[in-house]
Amino acid sequence: MAHSDIDELIRLFAKLPGLGPRSARRAVLQLIRQKEQLMIPLQAVMARSLDSIRSCTTCGNLDTHDPCVICSDPKRDPSVICVVEELADLWAIERCNLYKGRYHVLGGTLSAMDDRGPSQLNIEPLIARASKDEVKEIILATNATLEGQTTAHYLTTRLEQANVNISRLAQGIPMGGELDYLDDGTLGAALKARLPF
Ligand SMILES: [Zn+2]
Repeated sequence: MAHSDIDELIRLFAKLPGLGPRSARRAVLQLIRQKEQLMIPLQAVMARSLDSIRSCTTCGNLDTHDPCVICSDPKRDPSVICVVEELADLWAIERCNLYKGRYHVLGGTLSAMDDRGPSQLNIEPLIARASKDEVKEIILATNATLEGQTTAHYLTTRLEQANVNISRLAQGIPMGGELDYLDDGTLGAALKARLPF
């Protein structure tokens, strides 16, 4: 391999989230050292993925099937739709192994700063899904950031026409959290969302 290819690999790896130039160099070195176990299978799966991975036309999830495995799973409750910003959020909720409804991936948030309006997000298909008779509840699981909240607020307004209950994720004190260490926003939100004892 020419030296410039190594540099190019490092340059591309360093663009991945969580990898800086230093960890990109280490990752590339490992790939080269473990050609058989890593580089060849990686090359094969990347070539396949380019063709096989697509967006689910129902929910926006990524899968090799359309509709995706979640949308086509008869054991998942079609009456509840959990709305998330990004696919990583869907994966995070799936890791909890508690949620048995369906999803809707927006593909980001509304953002005045980045000039991102409703038409750039996967919103119209959500309104259409929510208006179906089988859908009873929409869980707005956008992030507790200004943009996440703005997006949730916008969706609440848009979903008024659909006959659904709208809920939000509870916000508050993390498990094992000590009050003294919480930021003011988290503590304030937890106080506002207090429950009867
Ligand atoms: Zn889907």
